[in-house]
Amino acid sequence: MMHTGRHFLQIPGPTNVPDRVMRAMAQPVIDHRGPEFAQLGLEVLDGIRDVFKTKGPVVIFPSSGTGTCEAALVNTLSPGDRVLICETGWFSHIAWRKVAERVGLSVEYLPGSWRRGASPSAVEATLAADAQHNFKAVVVVHNETSTGVTSRLAEIRKAMNRARHPALLIVDTISSLGSMDLRHDEWEIDVTVAGSQKGLMLPPGLGFNAVSEKALAASRVSKMPRAYFDWEEMLKANKSGFFPYTPATNLLYALREALEMLREEGLENVFRRHQRYGDATRAAVRAWGLEILCEEASEYSNSLTAVVLPDGHNADRLREIILDKFDMSLGTGLGQLAGKVFRIGHLGAFNDLTLAGTLSGVEMGLSLAGVPYKPGGVQAALASLAASATTVARQTEAATA
Ligand SMILES: *Cc1c(COP(=O)(O)O)cnc(C)c1O
Repeated sequence: MMHTGRHFLQIPGPTNVPDRVMRAMAQPVIDHRGPEFAQLGLEVLDGIRDVFKTKGPVVIFPSSGTGTCEAALVNTLSPGDRVLICETGWFSHIAWRKVAERVGLSVEYLPGSWRRGASPSAVEATLAADAQHNFKAVVVVHNETSTGVTSRLAEIRKAMNRARHPALLIVDTISSLGSMDLRHDEWEIDVTVAGSQKGLMLPPGLGFNAVSEKALAASRVSKMPRAYFDWEEMLKANKSGFFPYTPATNLLYALREALEMLREEGLENVFRRHQRYGDATRAAVRAWGLEILCEEASEYSNSLTAVVLPDGHNADRLREIILDKFDMSLGTGLGQLAGKVFRIGHLGAFNDLTLAGTLSGVEMGLSLAGVPYKPGGVQAALASLAASATTVARQTEAATA
């Protein structure tokens, strides 16, 4: 089918790249050992720390998100070390369990439901039972992108402290950073892992490790083989704004622009905006009479919503129809959720009308696919947007009065 206008890329990452960011990338590649690069390097390495809410170093790799999951593990651990990985969905499995096993770690996969976040009490009980302190790290996915469920990181940190266990806390924020609140320092996270192509509004290709003092200390005694992903070489070169190898220069131009956009809007406003889109999308799903995969309201994701289709209806067929008729890509069901759910990405460069268009495409698609639903989801979302716009305006007025 012939399509006009812009494609709707409404998967939960990669996300739509703003024109400003695209233009920022369209510049000549410069000498990555020259003075102009050093300026760029220092600027982005410093600026990115605000997004993680950390005063410590953030390492930027030319890598996908999965590469920086590997980096977090190989820089802090030693062969055969025990790691506790909380099962939350497809990404806790593919990006963490699989990677950890392949690099030679011994994984305890703490069983969890794909409809709930990681359980602070289960983490506490497991660590409390580990009197020998065999677990060297706990891995939690902040926003499980396969399910649209978040884990309550502050509570998990408290649970670890109550158990008085010294394990490192490694957190995957690949689909939450820049969309939902994340406090690397305050929540005492040891390594926060992120990627460029989701909330940060960049094309794929950059990965991040925010590193605590404790993680740095662990890296000095860690015996895992590593070369490309070694923090030490990187941090040494970063001091003067450089990288030990050729960085993804044009993606760093993009990062500089995206950081500027986040600063202009203000991080807390960015989070509020995503909260509005999460609320409005969930209002639409409820009005359609469909089920939100996430079972617990306090764990709803504001960057995506996974929607369960009624038995006998295939979510991938619905996605195919929507792609064909309306030129919109929605997220597929991953792993055990294949065919059962579709995922609506509402993160990154996204506004009220993007949401209205996205949900309209879904509602028209439900009808064409013959999925039983109640019309009115889009209306419910618009009402939710209108109500929250008023609240936000009042808050702003009060704050500036
Ligand atoms: C996207 C994603 C990954 C994988 O990132 P890649 O860039 O595809 O390697 C890992 N974890 C989470 C939570 C993600 O959303």
